[in-house]
Amino acid sequence: MMKVYTQELIFNTRNRQEFINITDQVREALDKSGIKEGLCLVNPMHITASVFINDDESGLHKDFSLWLEKLAPFGKDKYQHNLTGEDNADAHLKRTLMGREVVVAVTGGKLHFGPWEQIFYGEFDGQRKKRVLIKIIGE
Ligand code: ZN
Repeated sequence: MMKVYTQELIFNTRNRQEFINITDQVREALDKSGIKEGLCLVNPMHITASVFINDDESGLHKDFSLWLEKLAPFGKDKYQHNLTGEDNADAHLKRTLMGREVVVAVTGGKLHFGPWEQIFYGEFDGQRKKRVLIKIIGE
């Protein structure tokens, strides 16, 4: 019979922009679910944050930050969106570049990763409480 497991994680980052490795938290959720074969969806519940899969290598994370700042620099007066009184247009664009969600196959009760794959929460407008949804389906 198909099982469904749902959990939310809470983040409140110290900095406006941060990358956090959440692989262990997703693994714990999978263990709790008891699901051995299926799919695991992870997505932020906010439009200024990302969940993405990549290498846990600090140089690469610095490269991501520099690349994102080049494509979507922070700046109140640079964007149409900020004419509404907001200041986070860059965060919406950065989230779009890094993606909304990941889906990982579950095989034999484990996250079925390729080499070096890790799951990250990408925060682009932090310093406030935000949620990440984990939904696992399978048997
Ligand atoms: Zn906004």
